[in-house]
Amino acid sequence: MGKRIVVALGGNALGMNLSEQAAAARVTAKAIADLIANGHQVVITHGNGPQVGMIEKAFAAYRKLEPDAEDVPLSVSVAMSQAYIGHDLQNALREELLNRGIKRPVVTVLTHVVVDPNDPAFQKPTKPIGGFMTQEEAQKLAAETGAAVMEDAGRGWRKVVASPKPVEIIETDSILALLEAGQVVIAAGGGGIPVVRTGENRLEGVPAVIDKDYATEKLAEQLGADLLVILTAVEKVAVNFNKPDQKWLSELSPAQARRYIEEGHFAPGSMLPKVEAAVTFAESAPERTVLITLLEKAGEAVAGLTGTIIREPD
Ligand code: ADP
Ligand code: MG
Repeated sequence: MGKRIVVALGGNALGMNLSEQAAAARVTAKAIADLIANGHQVVITHGNGPQVGMIEKAFAAYRKLEPDAEDVPLSVSVAMSQAYIGHDLQNALREELLNRGIKRPVVTVLTHVVVDPNDPAFQKPTKPIGGFMTQEEAQKLAAETGAAVMEDAGRGWRKVVASPKPVEIIETDSILALLEAGQVVIAAGGGGIPVVRTGENRLEGVPAVIDKDYATEKLAEQLGADLLVILTAVEKVAVNFNKPDQKWLSELSPAQARRYIEEGHFAPGSMLPKVEAAVTFAESAPERTVLITLLEKAGEAVAGLTGTIIREPD
């Protein structure tokens, strides 16, 4: 029996620039096509760090030429990145499936994700985005636009934005209808276009970045998925990562994962959101399972041969 699988693609699935992305999308398409060929329903989500950074930089350069040009809101840049990444992924996957004789429509859904305007993340922006600046440039930007800026790990100054938690995915019903019609869906790219509800029926973009691992978890819950597969740059999750006593984990219960989280085994901003998303999904309903593994090992991991599996013990 095929499973309903939500697959999250990490940065390594898409590369750092235009030509890398087109090439990476072909490799990624093979991994995803393996799952589809095995009879699974698949929804794909992805990150967008380098892509949204490129879009922001391009508009910053444009504003230097055209000082009166309007500021492009971050939510608009996220929307653009969903379209641009969807363009490459959708085409690569369509081609890979057709090459295998599988006729299955592939479609990208622009996805809005509601966040809470009172989320404490808005009081404390933590997510660096866009290009590096000198301290002077950063302070000028902050004074002119009210943007928060921060020194980023000795590399220079950057804009920082809030990273609030996803509350609701607006296009869930559309994604579900496409899935049930047998289509392969790419959705919630870059964690989704961040919006808040203002008034009864209106959604407005906000300058924030939603973590793609939390947004993917929310989508997997809303779609009633059986399996959440987080594809990244490591084959398994480790404790004592990069230390002499490092140990790769094949199985992890949500309770054990919580203990490891408290002990600080997972780096914030990289492995921590994945393990937190895994715990939330595994605890959200019986039988729900999460796999964290390498992009290239997706098929093997779903067949039970590798990766770290997170689920409630029998
Ligand atoms: P992605 O783009 O897939 O979200 P990230 O770089 O954000 O990738 O997160 C994955 C990275 O997390 C791994 O490549 C690894 O370097 C790092 N990492 C941090 N802590 C751990 C850990 N405990 N076990 C495995 N990997 C870890
Ligand atoms: Mg990440």
